[in-house]
Amino acid sequence: MSDKKTFSTLNLPESMVENLQKLGYEFMTPIQEQSLQHIYSKQDILAKAKTGSGKTAAFGISLLLNLDVKKFRVQSLVLCPTRELAQQVAQELRALAKFQHNIKILTLIGGESFNKQLGSLAHHAHIIVGTPGRVLKHLNHASLDLSALNTFVLDEADRMLDMGFLEEIEQVHSHMKSRPQTLLFSATYNDEVLEISKKFQENPIEVSSAEIEEKNEIEELFISTKNKRETLVNALAHYKPSNAIIFVNTKLESDEIAEFLQESKVDALSLHGDLEQYDRIDTLVQFANKSCRVLIATDVASRGLDIKELAMVINYDLPHSKEIYTHRIGRTARAGAKGLAVSLYSEAAEVEEYQPIKAMNDEQLKNDEHFSMFSEYATLVIEGGKKDKLRAGDILGALTSERTFTREDIGKIDIYDKQSYVAIKSDLIEKAQKKLSKDTIKKKKFTIWILD
Ligand code: AMP
Repeated sequence: MSDKKTFSTLNLPESMVENLQKLGYEFMTPIQEQSLQHIYSKQDILAKAKTGSGKTAAFGISLLLNLDVKKFRVQSLVLCPTRELAQQVAQELRALAKFQHNIKILTLIGGESFNKQLGSLAHHAHIIVGTPGRVLKHLNHASLDLSALNTFVLDEADRMLDMGFLEEIEQVHSHMKSRPQTLLFSATYNDEVLEISKKFQENPIEVSSAEIEEKNEIEELFISTKNKRETLVNALAHYKPSNAIIFVNTKLESDEIAEFLQESKVDALSLHGDLEQYDRIDTLVQFANKSCRVLIATDVASRGLDIKELAMVINYDLPHSKEIYTHRIGRTARAGAKGLAVSLYSEAAEVEEYQPIKAMNDEQLKNDEHFSMFSEYATLVIEGGKKDKLRAGDILGALTSERTFTREDIGKIDIYDKQSYVAIKSDLIEKAQKKLSKDTIKKKKFTIWILD
């Protein structure tokens, strides 16, 4: 943005502007400018903003202005998906809060002593930053009271929903006596995010203007080859993407390439149109939770697929139209990240309609005999889900009890109606299966198996 605005244009208390200057914040970031211009209207805000956009200060300044420091009651609540983020947010809020004395900020996150948190709560806090499960536990225990709440922030709402926190968030919300100003921040919008916005917000101001979104940057390469299979493996070895989707034109090919890649030490799964709904979900969950790094798909099978953070798209077969090509490669470089699209071809005629192209030869790819592309995680399936009132927190609790596993050993958790999926660091997957098969979750025994 060419004409950046300074914080002093906002009519903020002088001490706050001075403190912001001390922090090195002079100009507002686009997301701050867009959301803070409504700061005195106390309207709800629905913001599309990712880490690095200055979102924490955007909601932080808002909630601090709503605060009456002489009132020893919880006036703001910020919910975050992970403990690490909650700690980061609290740290930034503490820095922003220095413009005034005695503002008390408390983090309520899992994995820390509940009793210690009880003690801290007894000393009064103005602002709570926490993860949904632990905040709810305090509400149910009546150690946290939200009757004086004036600002409610949902940070990284899309991630919280991805992690299965919807029910907990709704329950936390049901403890609020009157409707607080609600600020919802999310890196992406999907139906679920819009649904909770509808539930919790009233005529929110949307801050997601196209001009503040960075342009998708996709590097497009075309590789000529006489041996597509070999080149495919070489391309993966050369670019080392964290994950990739490989497009083929037939179902049969999809299965064959998956098998070939598995034999080449690449964790790959085929997503073809004949899969039963359950198998399709199994496959998509594994790809999204990093238990499978490469997905081979036909255009039909990939319809409706919404994968965040896709590093690379490979056209093993070029599609029948340029329109489909654009659609395929647009799946990488989402949310401003840089993406890579590589297309293989054997005859010059195949790429005619794509000219001018950045073409290269198979021989320009590094050949790595020791190449493998195994996954960081593996997936455990629990035969129980929403219908059994299972929540992400229950599964986390069962795994981390007796300190067998730490939060870092556990990846994404997806809860479906009758089934739940938990990503666990690959080398710990059997240990996790044993533990959950032996123990109970929410006082119930569930059948547990490893997905492969
Ligand atoms: P966030 O998107 O909240 O994770 O913030 C990203 C980083 O930008 C943090 O390190 C902030 O300290 C910093 N930051 C936030 N707002 C500003 C600003 N107006 N000027 C300079 N830096 C900022």
